[in-house]
Parts: sequence; structure tokens; C-alpha cells
Amino acid sequence: MPSPARLQALQSILQRQPTAVEPPVPLEEIWAVDVFGLEAMRSALPKEVFRSIQRSIREGSKLDLSVADVVAQAMKDWACVRGALYYAHVFYPLTNLTAEKHDGFISPQSDGKAIAEFSGKLLVQGEPDGSSFPNGGLRTTFEARGYTAWDVTSPAWLMRTPNGVTLCIPTVFVSWTGEALDLKTPLLRSNAAMSKQAQRLLRLLGETAIAPVNSSCGAEQEYFLIDSSYTALRPDLQLAGRTLFGAPPAKGQQFDDHYFGAIPERVQVFMQDVEAQLYRLGIPAKTRHNEVAPGQFELAPFFEAANVATDHQQLTMTVLRSTAKKHGLTCLLHEKPFAGVNGSGKHVNWSIGNPTQGNLLDPGKSPHANLQFLIFCAAVIRGVHCFGPLLRAVIATASNDHRLGANEAPPAIISVYLGSQLEDVFNQIRSGRLEGSAEAALMSLGVDTLPELNKDPGDRNRTSPFAFTGNRFEFRAVGSGQTVAGPLVALNTILADSLQWISDQLEEQLNSGIPLEEAAFAVLKRTMDDHGAVVFGGDGYSSEWHRKAVEERGLENLRTSADALPVLERPEIRDLFERQGVLTPVELESRFEVYAEQYILAIEVEVRLALRMARTQIYPVVMQSLERLSRSLRDQEAIGIQSDRGLISTIADLNSKLVQRCGALEEALANPPHDTHGHLHHCADTLMPLIGSLREAVDGLETLVDDELWPLPTYQEMLFVR
Ligand code: ADP
Ligand code: MG
Repeated sequence: MPSPARLQALQSILQRQPTAVEPPVPLEEIWAVDVFGLEAMRSALPKEVFRSIQRSIREGSKLDLSVADVVAQAMKDWACVRGALYYAHVFYPLTNLTAEKHDGFISPQSDGKAIAEFSGKLLVQGEPDGSSFPNGGLRTTFEARGYTAWDVTSPAWLMRTPNGVTLCIPTVFVSWTGEALDLKTPLLRSNAAMSKQAQRLLRLLGETAIAPVNSSCGAEQEYFLIDSSYTALRPDLQLAGRTLFGAPPAKGQQFDDHYFGAIPERVQVFMQDVEAQLYRLGIPAKTRHNEVAPGQFELAPFFEAANVATDHQQLTMTVLRSTAKKHGLTCLLHEKPFAGVNGSGKHVNWSIGNPTQGNLLDPGKSPHANLQFLIFCAAVIRGVHCFGPLLRAVIATASNDHRLGANEAPPAIISVYLGSQLEDVFNQIRSGRLEGSAEAALMSLGVDTLPELNKDPGDRNRTSPFAFTGNRFEFRAVGSGQTVAGPLVALNTILADSLQWISDQLEEQLNSGIPLEEAAFAVLKRTMDDHGAVVFGGDGYSSEWHRKAVEERGLENLRTSADALPVLERPEIRDLFERQGVLTPVELESRFEVYAEQYILAIEVEVRLALRMARTQIYPVVMQSLERLSRSLRDQEAIGIQSDRGLISTIADLNSKLVQRCGALEEALANPPHDTHGHLHHCADTLMPLIGSLREAVDGLETLVDDELWPLPTYQEMLFVR
């Protein structure tokens, strides 16, 4: 029988009724009703103001103040009619969280009355106190205060909570001297850099009408749901988002019976509630299903412009968490909440395109479109080859380290998977000829169409961190709890850089009189000669690949965040961001400092938690259990029954290991090196293994100690009772 606390949790769960949700409403009735988007603006704004805002959205240009005044007025009226008394500038500091500063529309008047007021100035400029957000070196070098400004390319929305309605305005967050203190600013800059270079390349390829190019993102979100009665009994889930202890259940995910299985009723009600809220916010939730691990699920929206998708992704995480609470559940977005079962990722599907040329990563139907596709694809390949370590660095968090390379998620080695057909095409380019054509290779590239590429999702390599999936790339190593902004900034920036490199090459060839197709082929071949080593179609989990990637291909295996984060300090990364105008050296440096600090903090919190739990929750019940056992053995011996002390001594053994490992952990925690790099490695290479060995003792005890005494809800309870 479980301990009284666990029993109580169990009983309350069994008595739960699914929370009633409003009956389903037709999609058209709720779609984007809480968004002040283009449609709402079109009907609320004078024609010329609307046109001016449309232009700003398309070109990412600044709003002028007279336009902003009119928009602010309309936005406020729209929000107030819907019950909003407050507005908030929403911004994305360098944590993975969302920050908000709330202000009332209220403006007291001299006659004692109050009216709701909102000006263009307040719309385009808020002043949160920057000093309470981590900003690395920027805090000391520059004034702590920063300001927020509406990002016109992302619409404002209404957040509805039991406390009321708030108008939320997505903003950039910069210091008074113009340094980016947030994630949105570099995302917008990286998109502009990519657009500039993509347009240049398209011009070289003979295009004349070329609209600005935008990146798109569709992020698949994996998450766990457990009953909140259990969370209440697990300090580790509450504070660290993952279980620091917990023996594997007798039944794990071996049976694969959860994946795409029927969604439990309670979870289904939860999902419908989430989706209804997302639809109101104009977030196109599209697919939902069970994931591989018990208690694990996925939600994927339809893809959108990267900037909007990023805001929507943050909102989705917020909605998932708050809705779970409402349904008596806890939504865990941690990458590895439970050891021994699959962790959660966030696949970032990414492509680039514009209204004139369409999706530039889509093979297309004509020879010219194919050529374009191959060149853009080659640019991605080069980018990943040159800057793979950067891609590893932007997904480096304490929690994501548990997943990468753990035979369930991609390895920490960043390679590109193209699918057998496309890999074959690129191999042929490398060898200097394209097969299946009687003509010379360089001719066939311009004249033939590519074989129809297989878009069957079955032709996917689940072991690759970065895969081409028909008309986009899928960055699969991103963590479930992360914002997608960092990965998107890196992808756009490395692509901008590669497009520039390719354009330079192509221009040189064209200037020396070589015809376009021949020149393009030469550049493609050169790109593959220099960077083809990053293309890998085999098993990314195999130890053979781990050896080969490093020894033969020259790729890096940055196992932990302590290995990966310092990549941000490398000169070639600093130059990349500076060259593309995405981050200044000071901005980049501040990012390294913030991410390193967060990594260290996350692990030190876990150490303190593990110590506290082991000493105050586990040790006492082990002692109690030993006492019970020895008492009953004494009683047996008293009446002459032969006793076996095996169990007692095993438990006592593990218990002294627990005590001793707690001591070692405490000592290591108290004596970190004083430099950042040393401290990072101390966390990764000393503290993490020590937490692991303490866990080993505790988990061993869980399987031996009287269940009636064990205080922590077990894996079996948390993962299977719903
Ligand atoms: P799978 O699980 O097979 O990868 P899903 O349907 O769950 O597929 O998710 C695919 C994601 O990729 C969705 O968010 C989808 O909208 C997105 N996507 C599809 N086409 C593109 C594209 N051209 N650019 C970016 N994202 C895309
Ligand atoms: Mg996917």
C-alpha cells in the first residue's frame, strides 16, 4: 500500500471528473477573435493609416508617430469593448520565458472622472526596468533601463484570465543605447539579413520581380501531463521541472502502445480546451497526438512567419501550462522529466520564401526552379557545415543535455540528412556529372527537372538532428522548453552568410563571362566539395558514427552545454553575427554570459534540491524502514524462527552510500572554480555525475523500502494514473 500522502493523491485522482469545457463552437466563430490583426485593423482604421501599417508589416519598417496615434486609439477601443482595462508590453528576455509589464488605460481627469487613454507613444515605447532581467555584460556597461517597442509584424492580442482581460502588445526590448536585450530583436535582424542576401542571389539567378524573403517556422511541441496531486508531492517537479529521483516502473514504453494510441478522455478534454484558446488567439493548432512515452503528447500548429510563429509558440507554452492547471493536471515542458522514458523535443520546421518565387526550399517543377532550389539547399548545407557548433550552442541548456545523444533524440553532432534521393543528386554534383542525362552535367542541371522528390514521411531519418523533409528543414535537436527564437536566429544568420558566400562566387564567375548554368553548377560543386562532409544519411545513434564524424569528417561532438556554450565566444561566430548585422560583439558576449549563468544556476538548484530531498525525505524513511525490519526480525528470532538479514544489510548499505554521496555533493557544490569556463565544466563534469550517483542509491532504496513509507509518488503512479 502506498504512503498516506500518496494514497490521498491517488484517491483524489480517482474521484476527478473531467472539467466541463464549453461546447465546441464552429471554428469561424472563434478564429482569431482575440487578435487585433489585419482584418480587425482594416475595419477599424482609416484607409491610408491601414495602408501605411500594411507597408510597415511587409517591409518591417518603423511606424511614424502620427500613424501610431491612430492605431493606438483604435487598438484601445477594440480592447476596451472586449473588457480590457490594462495593456501589457510583452517581451522576450534572454531567458526562455515571456515577460510582461502591465499598465492601466486609466487616465484620471481634473473633474474627478477617469477615462481610458492610450497614445501612439505608449504603443511604440514602453519602459520596463531592464535591471531585473539577465542581460550579461550589458547590465554593467550600459544603463539598466531599456525600452520596449511594438513589433508591427506581430499582431496584438487579448489575454483572458480569471482576473480579467489584458491587451498584449508584442514588443522588442532594447537598451537606451540600442543594444538588444531580448530575443525578438535579433530574430527580426536575422530575417532582414537573410532576406537581403536571398534577394541578391535571386537577382544573380536572373529573377527580376523579387519580393522580400521571409523565414517560416512550424514548431512541434512535445510535453508530458501528470496529475497535479502528484506534483504537489514532488519538490523536484515543482522547482526543477524534472524528477531527480524515481526508479523505473515495471512497465515503461517498451510496448510502444502509447504512440498514436487513443488519447485518454481527460487529456482529450484538456486538448480541446487548449485548442479553443489557441484559435481565439489566431494560433493555428493543427495536429495532436500521443507521443512515444506514457503520459507524453504533442501539439503542432500550421507553420507561420518565423517571427509570428515564435510569439505564438511562447503563447502556446503559456496556454498549455495554465490550461493544465485548470484541469487538475501539470504540463511538464522539461526535456527530460522522467529518466528511462523518452524526453521531449521541439522540432523546428523552417523554410524561407516570398510571394514572388514561393518557397525557396521547394524543389519545384521547372528546371530553373530546380536550380534555384539546389543552390538554396546547398547554402543551408554550407551554413550547417561552417557553423554546426553554433547550432549546438543555441540548443545548449542544462535540461536539453539530458536528451541529446541519449539514443532517443539526435546526437550532439550536428549533421544534415537529405534523404536518399537528394543526397544522390548532390553526390552526382560532387562527382561532376548528373546521371540519367546524355548531355553534359552542367547542361542537364539547367534543362532537366529533378526526379520528383519523395515526400513520404517514412523516408525520414529520426536519428538526424537536422533533416530535409521535402520542402523545409527540420531542426530536431531543439528542446521542448526552449523558445524557438534562438535556433531561428542562428538558422537565418548562417543562411544569410552562406547566400552571401555563394553570391560572391557566382558573381565572380558571371563577371568572367561564364554562362549562368555553368557558373551555378561550378558553385554547387565547389560548395559540395568543401562542405559535403556534413551530409550524413546513416544511423546517427551508432557509436561508429560518433567516431567517424569526429575522426574522418572533422565534425565536432559537443557533448554538454559546458562544451557548447563557449562556441559563442569564438572569433568566427562573433564575426558571423557582426558581418550579418544580427548581434554586435557586445550583444553576443552578453548572451554567452547569460546562458552560462542560467546553466550553472539550473544545475546548482538541482544539487540543493537533491540534497534536501535525500536528507529530509528519503533518509528518515529509510531509517524507519530499517527499524521496522529489525524489530520484526528480532521478534522472529525470539520465537526461534531462523532469520535472513540480507535485505536489511542491502538497505543499510545503500543508505550509507546515500549519506556519503550527499556529503560529496555538498562539498563539490561549495567549492566551484571561480572562472566561468571552469564553473561550467564543474557543473557538467562533477556535479551532474554526483547527482547521478546519489540518484542511483535513492532509486535502489525505492525498490527495497516499505512502500507504505515511501514519500514520493512513483513513476508508475505519475505516468500511468490519469
Ligand atoms: P511530422 O511529425 O511528420 O514532422 P507534423 O505535421 O507533426 O509532421 O509537423 C510538421 C510541421 O512542419 C507543421 O508545423 C507544419 O506546418 C510545418 N511545415 C510544413 N511545411 C512547412 C514549411 N514549408 N516551412 C516551415 N514549416 C512547415
Ligand atoms: Mg516532425
